[in-house]
Amino acid sequence: MAIVVLKLPDVKRKTEARPRQCRYCEGETFQRWGQVSKPVKDLGVRNVKVYRYRCCRCKRTFRHYPEGTSPADQTERLRLFAVVLWTLGLSYRASSVILTGLKVLVSHMTIWRDVQGEAAQRKQRNRWKPVRVLGLDGAYVLGWGEKQPVLVAVDLGSGEPLTVGYVNEHDPQAVRRWLAPLVQQHGITVIVTDDLASYKVVAEKLQLEHQVCQFHVRRWVGKALKELHETVPKEWLWVLDEIRELVEFLPPDGSTTLYTLWKRLPGRRSKRNQNRLALEQLRDLLLRLSQDWHRYCIFQSEPQVPWTNNATERAIGRMKMRARTVRGYKSWPGMHSGLLLAASSIP
Ligand SMILES: [Zn+2]
Repeated sequence: MAIVVLKLPDVKRKTEARPRQCRYCEGETFQRWGQVSKPVKDLGVRNVKVYRYRCCRCKRTFRHYPEGTSPADQTERLRLFAVVLWTLGLSYRASSVILTGLKVLVSHMTIWRDVQGEAAQRKQRNRWKPVRVLGLDGAYVLGWGEKQPVLVAVDLGSGEPLTVGYVNEHDPQAVRRWLAPLVQQHGITVIVTDDLASYKVVAEKLQLEHQVCQFHVRRWVGKALKELHETVPKEWLWVLDEIRELVEFLPPDGSTTLYTLWKRLPGRRSKRNQNRLALEQLRDLLLRLSQDWHRYCIFQSEPQVPWTNNATERAIGRMKMRARTVRGYKSWPGMHSGLLLAASSIP
């Protein structure tokens, strides 16, 4: 079993470092103006020493806190630890119980506020973050009584979620309305998705490059070839082998090769109301792959683009682990915060 190392911020008991600048004016020189011992809630430290300083310029006094502490009761380390407990799937109450076991008394309401605060901070931090390659994938999460469709957007540079939308991935108009401002704000130029038709429409409308996850392509093409193997006349079986090889090696001229094969196959013979013959199905497959070929190969010329959407699927996996124990969100703002945190990796 892999061990995940939790990297929480340090907490210092005191700091001799003087403040750099007065918080009220630009002043840079100070007199020490006494000290207080401040009790804190933390995993190890019980008290910290806080010096007071007086600004020589404006004469006002203020407290200067050691690293990892602030006017709040909790240290930064404890706050993040509580958020991690919740992210791992514990309820607010259970997280509070765990902390009691560590001799730290924090109410479940405080942990609720910690979680909300952390989500708000991440939203703020993500707001103008530059993201060039964005992974997108849909999921369903229980909220206000039934399963709600959400769309998870992951920065594939860092593997961390950028945001979560209350959007059904099967609705191209909705996806486009939601994605267009994100493209503007973050400077997104490439999206990575599975090969759902709606993403192709959206990528074209928003003039984005589009990499289709190759795991998905291999899966569905493999399945289609297996079925055709049973139905296609023997003299055409070699075409199936060609396709298999092309999808495996993704040569840049694959589109042309597929198109040439498409032209060699006999045209449509079944009537409109009849089921398609096996050869016609094979012909459709060749055409679809030929038309989408450029969407399979972006990663070959752009090293920042991954060839699968695994990072996005991992974020959704973390989100679902959290959703297993949450009893269902009550509103979209609450769900948005919860999902954003739950989809993030542990610090
Ligand atoms: Zn001052």
